[in-house]
Amino acid sequence: MSIQDNLERIQEHIAAACARRGRSPEEVTLVAVSKQQPPEAVLEAAGLGVQHFGENRVEEAQGKIPVVNQRAPQPLHWHMIGHLQSRKAKDAVPLFQMIHSVDRLKIARKLSDLAVMQQTRLPVLLEINISGEEAKYGFPLTNWQRDSSVREAFWQTMHTLRELPQLDIRGLMTMAPYYDEVERTRPIFASLAELRDALRGSFRLPLPELSMGMSNDYPVAVEEGATIVRIGRAVFGARH
Ligand SMILES: *Cc1c(COP(=O)(O)O)cnc(C)c1O
Repeated sequence: MSIQDNLERIQEHIAAACARRGRSPEEVTLVAVSKQQPPEAVLEAAGLGVQHFGENRVEEAQGKIPVVNQRAPQPLHWHMIGHLQSRKAKDAVPLFQMIHSVDRLKIARKLSDLAVMQQTRLPVLLEINISGEEAKYGFPLTNWQRDSSVREAFWQTMHTLRELPQLDIRGLMTMAPYYDEVERTRPIFASLAELRDALRGSFRLPLPELSMGMSNDYPVAVEEGATIVRIGRAVFGARH
């Protein structure tokens, strides 16, 4: 399958998932995850109209983004989706238009300081660990609906986060574990959407974005309210 065929199929699946929930496909942004893909593959996708790309490592992005931007047929938006070390934050800020992986207070403070220094407002998402998998990054919110201590801890953190200057908290991001039975991801995505609604009520932040859904589970994520899906292998094929 070519990248073109893959993109057409993904758009069809997104449109079908939206139709099932009475949503408009325009509410869903496809971020093509180009990690471990060469610039040529990214440019091929860009030539087919893809405007949003995701990378998970700053070093790789530093090499790739300027090369791709220079040859791209339209301006591209780059999304940082991987865990960000504090010492790499300074390099990440000028490369990316959105950072999905704000997963602890320390990195939020660091990014806010950098945005203040560079006099920009930085769009970010808060990465949330809903599934409780130990291998996952993110603010821990497993069982937040039932466990009031989990909820109170994060609400405290939110009070601090929302006061950080120049950090534009646009919404939430999560990763579901890989399941053969994709339906098992649904409660995780539904829980993230509910968390967003609860935070909206408590903090008077609009939080429009829900970044959730990857190659194996994006139709379920779209049914549960994803506004951004992060899709790698289903766009580009296996990683190199
Ligand atoms: C790699 C990655 C993706 C894309 O995964 P695929 O299975 O290739 O679609 C999405 N989100 C994050 C955070 C990733 O690291």
